[in-house]
Amino acid sequence: MVSPADPSSTEPSNTEPSNTEPSSTDRSSADLSVAELAASDAPTGEKVTAALDVLQRIFGYDAFRGFQREVIDHVVAGGDALVLMPTGGGKSLCYQIPALVRDGVAVVISPLIALMQDQVDALTAVGVKAGFLNSTLDFDTRRLVEAEFVAGEIDLLYLAPEALASQATLSLLDRGRISLFAIDEAHCVSQWGHDFRPDYLNLSMLHERWPGVPRIALTATATSATRTEIATRLQLGEARHFVASFDRPNIQYRIVPKREPRKQLLALLRDEHPGDAGIVYCLSRASVEKTAEFLVANGVDALPYHAGLDAATRAANQQRFLRADGVVMVATIAFGMGIDKPDVRFVAHLDLPKSVEGYYQETGRAGRDGLPSTAWLAYGLQDVVQQRKMIDTSEGDLAHRRNLAAHLDAMLALCETVRCRRAQLLEYFGEPAGCGCGNCDTCLEPPESWDGTVAAQKLLSTVYRLDRERNQRFGAGHCVDILLGRSTDKIVQHRHDSLTVFGIGEELSEAEWRGVVRQLLAEGLLAVEGDYGTLALTDASAEVLGKRRTVMMRREPARAARVAKPRGAATVVAELPAEAAGTFERLRAWRAATAKEQGVPAYVIFHDATLRQIAADAPSSLADLSRISGVGENKLAKYGEQLLTVLGEETAAQQP
Ligand code: ADP
Ligand code: ZN
Repeated sequence: MVSPADPSSTEPSNTEPSNTEPSSTDRSSADLSVAELAASDAPTGEKVTAALDVLQRIFGYDAFRGFQREVIDHVVAGGDALVLMPTGGGKSLCYQIPALVRDGVAVVISPLIALMQDQVDALTAVGVKAGFLNSTLDFDTRRLVEAEFVAGEIDLLYLAPEALASQATLSLLDRGRISLFAIDEAHCVSQWGHDFRPDYLNLSMLHERWPGVPRIALTATATSATRTEIATRLQLGEARHFVASFDRPNIQYRIVPKREPRKQLLALLRDEHPGDAGIVYCLSRASVEKTAEFLVANGVDALPYHAGLDAATRAANQQRFLRADGVVMVATIAFGMGIDKPDVRFVAHLDLPKSVEGYYQETGRAGRDGLPSTAWLAYGLQDVVQQRKMIDTSEGDLAHRRNLAAHLDAMLALCETVRCRRAQLLEYFGEPAGCGCGNCDTCLEPPESWDGTVAAQKLLSTVYRLDRERNQRFGAGHCVDILLGRSTDKIVQHRHDSLTVFGIGEELSEAEWRGVVRQLLAEGLLAVEGDYGTLALTDASAEVLGKRRTVMMRREPARAARVAKPRGAATVVAELPAEAAGTFERLRAWRAATAKEQGVPAYVIFHDATLRQIAADAPSSLADLSRISGVGENKLAKYGEQLLTVLGEETAAQQP
């Protein structure tokens, strides 16, 4: 067993306090910054050269990113590691390169058997020998992979966690030589959150059965509580923690007021993401179905995905999303974990996520390839009402409901903030953030805030007066009607036109009043009760009514903030000169045909980022082509000539 490489660390990483609310001080001293790491670990000459050589020759990349080199050195030297990197950070190479440099076969535990084939295909495409064992294999293939493992003819073996519960698998593993264990999506061991896999709890036995084999656990989950849980449950007490920044600079965060969400979504797709692949998250199965139908009816290549669909349909839809270019997946949160598709250009939420963790994880599926991507959320009063109600009626004890409410409050705070969204998001995960990021809606179009104290008082007074008729159903709409002095049937029937508050709110529009209600709910200055979403005062309401508290509000924009790029320009080609954009499209068509022929996802052939670079540079020789990031030896040999032909046709087409 290798001890932590940082001897100055006085606090063993497995005794961190397990706080649920991350704070800016929760980084333990076991975590090292990039600079510290660079200074600490003297590269072990040969092995490092080997790692860099593998990166450049096999994967076709110039340099390591962030922590990659340090993690790889550490694992190659036999150390355990817990790697926390955002989605798209490049976690896979952290175990794939050690798998190639160390003797033996790396065993990769991966929770999603539906995606193992793609993972193996992607490795095969760069010339790495890999295999997987799961229930989808026929007898002969299984025997073949087992034999390859025992003979050490492959470098990586992918396994589902449940496989380790079988004695047969364990004795198979005993017969081979294991170079390392990689535990992907390690947060599946955490019982908080919907990705929990009971079989992950069993993985601590790896350490007991094969104490000399290094283990590397990887996750994109940002909270320190989950990190502590992973370290404890997987017995990674002596593992070195590598914690990267969770910022995703290429993702543009936007939260817009919800009006007609499906139409707003369609406008987003048409104006900014025509032909792009993306994910649209909805809360319910019914709204998944409706939204997918709506998009299809409007000419978008959209598919539904939720737990109510039969397994075959789900698998088929997922395959199409992964394999074809530009498919939009409309899904519940059941969709997404382990989806490696690098060119998801947008993630849109039509309903409010239940927590910042969920929001971050779901939006994180956009832009793994580092190219510009959009995280867009439409959020309105109804979301707050609905989620508060769901918490009130949820099963579980008071502590559980409080926990849910705390998570919702943090999410609401993110929606209502007038600050930089990214800064708020990063701070939530305990990362000190600068001021403005320049790539979120509040930075691009700073919202105005206004003193909403008087408006709040008017609204709360109305609620107070209606409170005496508690058995009635007076939701937000009715309160707003009273404030606007509308003599609706309901108002006349209940004689609410004789209340002193009737018509005292004509200075604001209906949308603005709904914004006031929403923000008061978000801040806990107002509550919703019962099945009909009746508004009720809270203890804190008195402070506002008693003029002891001012309430600053976010001004409702007259129209949705426009941060859009020129109409019709897909994000990936947006900044390419016209002829390069044309070349890119031709390369994309070539890639689609090639992928189809081989039955692999398009990104397994080349990523958008690589095609984009080829289009921009227009290399004229194999040597030039080999210098482009993402073009390794194997792909150069396999596709080099074809690419040059496509580029040549392009040049010929441009000649007068
Ligand atoms: P994660 O598993 O952390 O979400 P991946 O391992 O899928 O991320 O990597 C994200 C993307 O970045 C992939 O397209 C991968 O090929 C690319 N990538 C990873 N490391 C590098 C690197 N050092 N240089 C260039 N591209 C990289
Ligand atoms: Zn910002």
